[in-house]
Amino acid sequence: MSDPAEVWRGRVQQQLDAAGRPSLGDMAGWEVFPFERDGLTPKPLGERVVPEPDRSRPADQCGTCRALARDDLVLHTGSRLAVIRPGGTSLMFVANVVARAHERLDDLDDDADAELGRLVARTYRALRALPGVGHVQVSKWENGGGHLSVNVLARPLGVLELRGSNLPVWADMLPDIPQDELEARADVVRAALA
Ligand SMILES: [Zn+2]
Repeated sequence: MSDPAEVWRGRVQQQLDAAGRPSLGDMAGWEVFPFERDGLTPKPLGERVVPEPDRSRPADQCGTCRALARDDLVLHTGSRLAVIRPGGTSLMFVANVVARAHERLDDLDDDADAELGRLVARTYRALRALPGVGHVQVSKWENGGGHLSVNVLARPLGVLELRGSNLPVWADMLPDIPQDELEARADVVRAALA
């Protein structure tokens, strides 16, 4: 039986240039795209790697497990899940809805799924209610690390360049907010989630 991902890769190959690079997509023309289109070069697509290398980390090397052990970074503790924050951010606020144990989304049961939905929605609303927040984005990228983490990101009001899916790219380039501001907002979010 043919491998659907190999079929996908073969089809894509026909559209790559000699170096294996795709052409720039529509996103590079978006008003909210963080880079000027001129001079941008996509990376070449390499060979497929199957089986994929295991990128998961054991609990004692996991940043999420470490954050869960710090009272100042924990905003809420539920039955199977918790809400934490990073030690710093350039955005108005960032929270992560995470598993309390070192486990993946794949490992949750029905009750934990319901808790996940409830906590993501409540965290979204808590960040949305912070003064100076224009909008809140939700995403999950943790697949590699082995610890469920849903990112909830609060964009500063009126900074329209930061709208949409490139928000984390902007966040990476901008300077962190002062610690006292971050901690004051953490207290507000903690109270909202209580
Ligand atoms: Zn962990």
